[in-house]
Amino acid sequence: MAGPRRRTVRDLRRNNRATVLSKLYFDGPLSRQELGPLTALSSGSISNVVAELVADGLVEEAGSVDSDGGRPRTLLRVAPGSGHVVGVDVGETRVRVELFDLSLSELARVDAPLPLAAPDGTYDAHEIVRLIAGGLTEVLAGTGVTPASLIGVGIGVPGIVDASGASGAVVHGQTIGWEAVPLEAMLRAPGELPPQIPLFVDNGAKTLGRAEMWFGAGRGARNAVITLIGSGVGACVIADGVPYQGSSSSAGEWGHTVLQVGGRLCRCGSRGCLEAYVGAEALLERWREAGGSWTAQDEEGALAELLAAPDTGQLLDETAEFLGAGIADLVNLFNPERIVVGGWAGLLLGPRLIEPVRRAAASYALRHPFAQTTVELGRLGADAVTVGAATLPLARFLETGGAERERIVSGASWMG
Ligand SMILES: [Zn+2]
Repeated sequence: MAGPRRRTVRDLRRNNRATVLSKLYFDGPLSRQELGPLTALSSGSISNVVAELVADGLVEEAGSVDSDGGRPRTLLRVAPGSGHVVGVDVGETRVRVELFDLSLSELARVDAPLPLAAPDGTYDAHEIVRLIAGGLTEVLAGTGVTPASLIGVGIGVPGIVDASGASGAVVHGQTIGWEAVPLEAMLRAPGELPPQIPLFVDNGAKTLGRAEMWFGAGRGARNAVITLIGSGVGACVIADGVPYQGSSSSAGEWGHTVLQVGGRLCRCGSRGCLEAYVGAEALLERWREAGGSWTAQDEEGALAELLAAPDTGQLLDETAEFLGAGIADLVNLFNPERIVVGGWAGLLLGPRLIEPVRRAAASYALRHPFAQTTVELGRLGADAVTVGAATLPLARFLETGGAERERIVSGASWMG
């Protein structure tokens, strides 16, 4: 049985800080008077919490607005420069490391191309760790930002991330040959990342989903599915406002749901997966089989050539039908109010495919749930994975009322 609760006052103080900080972050700038009704805190509590957050440097004044007949009201916002976050996208062709301030304005970025995968499609995890650590050093050095002001580093990876073990996040990336790669422990090894920096690792489709939910096409929805169509295909299922994880975080592996029994061989080793039809790698392979060819060295350039080619109408129509059928499955399974098509290939194909995809989804889905759903393109562009990865430490920072930064600054837990 749990012992008596001794931390009630501290819990309350921390909760109040978290409430005010989050409200200012997502809806600011706001005045103290506006914060009251928005947070359900008394004006006395608001004054105390704001004074604390200002003293800590986390909140700053942002001008003022006139109030009817009274004194002008001071507006408050989260101070963008009071901390920094890093987002990392371990993509299919490169590792991107981006440094942001707290408003998620980009301060610096480094793109490191991945060496070609081994003939069996396997990625060298040690090489990727080296690129992440090197990229972090480079973005910090280029901007003069110190590791001490980093609230954390968020990393989006292809594959399933299991963070339940004692040694941190382990990645199961079946399509890139990673079987239980202890990525977090490898990043923590001496000589890699500075030891005090908090690390957060998640699946790349889930980080993209977080970014679209916070700032993009998912904003305001409680039940949504954000899809990532790149070389491969993934999804982030948002159920009642939070990402649905399943028992070991693998939920949302939509790309490996089967569209055709005994169908095309997928990179995962199975057959007939959605990814084997609509992922960029598979789509290009289908084009090649149909006699197509391209000159670009990368998939993005090749896909652009496919879209511009005169004789690819039927291939694209088929792709729209496969994607629409996959989206119909999401509608029937999850009853989302919104489905967002994102990822670099999804955004490239979107203008051409979104209407036929909607028609196909309507024809395969149950009518009632489909009528409650909109199918939209992502709004954040192909960079959303790094932005979403950066929201991982930022979310912890807001949830703890800025405790993460306090801990770093004071060298002790804010909770004492
Ligand atoms: Zn598969």
